Amino acid sequence: MKRQKSFENKRPSLYLVPTPIGNLSEMTPRAIEILNQADVIACEDTRTSGQLLAHFGIHKKLIACQNFNEENSAGGIVKLLSEGKNVALISDAGYPLINDPGQRVVQACVENDFNVIPVSGCSAFLNALVASGLVAMPFIYVGFLPSGATERRKKLAMYKDYPMTLVFYEAPHRIVRMLEDVRDVMGNRQCTLARELTKVHEEFIRGTVEEILETADDLRGEMVVVLEGKKEDRAVELDMHAVLAMVNEAMQAGMSTSDAIRETARRTGISKNRIYEYVHQKN
Ligand code: SAM
Repeated sequence: MKRQKSFENKRPSLYLVPTPIGNLSEMTPRAIEILNQADVIACEDTRTSGQLLAHFGIHKKLIACQNFNEENSAGGIVKLLSEGKNVALISDAGYPLINDPGQRVVQACVENDFNVIPVSGCSAFLNALVASGLVAMPFIYVGFLPSGATERRKKLAMYKDYPMTLVFYEAPHRIVRMLEDVRDVMGNRQCTLARELTKVHEEFIRGTVEEILETADDLRGEMVVVLEGKKEDRAVELDMHAVLAMVNEAMQAGMSTSDAIRETARRTGISKNRIYEYVHQKN
């Protein structure tokens, strides 16, 4: 076990700093302050970030941290922290780690007992989710699906029975094929396509997958797809199958029916009465 009290120790820190996903006014004062105070800024693309930072008057040493060299970057960043330097990690837009580099860097810092301090800010999926009009919680953030059709369909099949709202990132040149696969594998559900978030052409298209498909050919820009989860009643039915299996397993292990129901209620948080009714309805 490791405990980090971010502001009560003097250990060097890795700051995870989000940058705007479009509208530059969304850069927070704290993000600017942390970037100004950092000794080094690690970023995905030094040119892209150099321009962004110059806009905010931040002139710091930049080092590259990209997906293909993340293992090396993690080692380099840990070395800087060991020398007592504070490092800020940014990506081209939004949060690092969210479909952007940083996972290995954070792991390496945790392994080496350096602080990892998040700075609040925005990620495209969160903007899309909360304004989608679909049920915001619980949700699963999937990110990009595989670009090949077979792998994409396999992944969608994996999520098909999940009752939670699903959030995907997609590129405009793949959006039609992606939505066709969603319709074929998961059915014609409610969906919101959010594009160009926080920018002048921000748009939300809310409807069924079929309806959105009718417009999808012409859609450009950066986009997020928010998809309704599997309808609740069927999901509850699925959950109750699992609950019944737990009761049966406990009975096979020697418990009486009422003890097995009590134990299953304790483990799942579902009321004893509900499980009792379900068990007797199925037997
Ligand atoms: N780290 C970013 C984040 O926190 O959202 C995501 C980076 S990922 C490489 C880029 C993808 O994020 C885009 O292809 C798009 O799906 C989504 N995205 C980024 N900015 C967006 C915006 N302004 N509007 C809609 N989607 C956006």
